[in-house]
Amino acid sequence: MICPDCGAEYVTGIEQCADCEIALVHEEPARTEADLEWTELMVVTDETEAQLIRGYLESEGVPCNLESLVFHAEPFTFGPLSKVRIHVPTHDLERARRLLEDQTSGSTVTAVP
Ligand SMILES: [Zn+2]
Repeated sequence: MICPDCGAEYVTGIEQCADCEIALVHEEPARTEADLEWTELMVVTDETEAQLIRGYLESEGVPCNLESLVFHAEPFTFGPLSKVRIHVPTHDLERARRLLEDQTSGSTVTAVP
């Protein structure tokens, strides 16, 4: 038995997590897209560019996960410290790279080796 909230494991027969006070489940929840293994595709220094890349990849069926490294406490987010990591599912990594090579050849986008 597993607590769906904190992930603690309990022996069969216990129905409730001692810490969270919620009902336990029998197994880990089924894997969904949110549980995909993500791999860093590239880092760009322009959030607009990152959004464009995500839009392009998602239009080709490759889900994207953007991780902004900007400190959002700042009122303005442009400048040399602004970076966005683009993650794609590990099994889509090669396809994503090929798509971007086709689309961005000659641009300033640099793929992570
Ligand atoms: Zn718990």
